[in-house]
Amino acid sequence: MQNLLDLDGDSLTSWFAAQGEKPFRARQVLRWIHRSGVADFDAMTDIAKSLREKLKVKAVVRPPTVVSDKLSDDGTRKFLIDVGNGNAVETVFIPEEDRGTLCVSTQAGCALDCAFCSTGKQGFNRNLTVAEIIGQVWQANKALGAVHGDERLISNVVLMGMGEPLANFENSVAALKLMLDDNAYGLSRRRVTVSTSGLVPVMDRLREECPVALAVSLHAPNDRLRDELVPINQKYPLAELMAACRRYLEKAPRDFITFEYVMLDGINDSDAHARELLALVRTVPCKFNLIPFNPFPGSPFKRSPAERVRRFADILMQAGIVTTTRKTRGDDIDAACGQLAGQVLDRTRRTAAKTIILKEETRP
Ligand code: SAH
Ligand code: SF4
Repeated sequence: MQNLLDLDGDSLTSWFAAQGEKPFRARQVLRWIHRSGVADFDAMTDIAKSLREKLKVKAVVRPPTVVSDKLSDDGTRKFLIDVGNGNAVETVFIPEEDRGTLCVSTQAGCALDCAFCSTGKQGFNRNLTVAEIIGQVWQANKALGAVHGDERLISNVVLMGMGEPLANFENSVAALKLMLDDNAYGLSRRRVTVSTSGLVPVMDRLREECPVALAVSLHAPNDRLRDELVPINQKYPLAELMAACRRYLEKAPRDFITFEYVMLDGINDSDAHARELLALVRTVPCKFNLIPFNPFPGSPFKRSPAERVRRFADILMQAGIVTTTRKTRGDDIDAACGQLAGQVLDRTRRTAAKTIILKEETRP
C-alpha cells in the first residue's frame, strides 16, 4: 500500500502515471488531501468512482496520530504526535496578530547533541518519513479547523522542532515542496524556514534543490566556545559556516540569514561576545534572533537576565543589525524552544551511558 502522504507533487504525478492515470488526476487528489484535509477516497467527490475504487486497493492517506493536544495560557498549542514503536514528536502552533507559525519536527530525537538542547539530550532514534513531517501540518490544520476553504491559519512553517532538518534532507525537502505547492499548502518560500545547526555541505544542497528562508543556530562567536556548545562545529567551523551562509544568500528567497543565539548566563552573553559576533558576521547580511535559554530538567545552564539580553541586543543594533528577542511562548506546557522532548527511544546509547554515569556519581 502506498501512503499518498509520503509523496510530493512530482512523485504523486509519477505514481499516478504508473497506474495509467493523467497528471491532472494527481493534482485533484493532492488538493483533496492537503487543501481539504480529506483522507477518505470516497469523500473525493469529483474523482471518478472507478479511480476511487482503484485508489482504495492500492493506496491510503495515513497521517501520524495526534496523541495529545495542549493549549497554553498564551494561545500556543502543542501537539504530541505518535510516530510508532514508542516514539513521539512534538509540533507547536504559535498564533500571533499578523501570522500563525507552525513549528515542525523532522527527526525522533537528534544525534547532534548540542549542550543546551533537550531534544539533543534524549539521543536519536530515526528520521521522520515525509508522511510524518507533512502529516504534522495536515493534523494541525485539521485541529485548528483550517480545512475546507482557504482559511490560512498556518501562514508560516519553521522546521525548528525536534531534530536537525538537514540531517534528514530528502524527506525534509519533499515535505517543504508540499508546503510550497499551490495544490497543497501554497506557502511562499519566504514564509517557510529551515533552521540548521550548520551542516555546511547540505546547506549548499538546500540552496540548489529547494531554497527557502534559512535560520542558522550560531550560539557562539568563536570556535572554541562553539565547539563546546554545538559539537558539529568541530566538523564545520565558523569560517566555513560563514562562507556557506554567503553562498546560500546568492539564491535565497530572502536577502538575509537569521542567526539564532541562545542566551546562556555567564557563558556566551557578555559585551565582549557581542562585539566578537559583530566581527564574525561582518560579511554576512543577517538578522539576529536572541533566544533566552529555556531550562529543562537536568540542564546545567541558566537563562541570561533580561537586562543582559537587552544590553547584548543593543550592541548588535547599534552596529546596524536588526535584532529581536524571542518571546518565550508556551513554556507552561513545555512547548518553548529547546523544551520539546516528545518521547524518543534512544538508539545511540547516549542516554543509557549518561544514566550509568549519574548513578555512579550519586553512589554513597
Ligand atoms: N536542529 C535545528 C532545529 C531545531 S532546534 C537547529 O539546531 O537549528 C531549534 C532552535 O532552538 C535552535 O536554534 C536551537 O539552538 C534552539 N534551542 C535548543 N535548545 C534550546 C533551549 N534549551 N533554550 C532555547 N533555545 C534552544
Ligand atoms: Fe539537534 Fe538542533 Fe537540538 Fe542541536 S539544537 S541537538 S541540532 S535539535
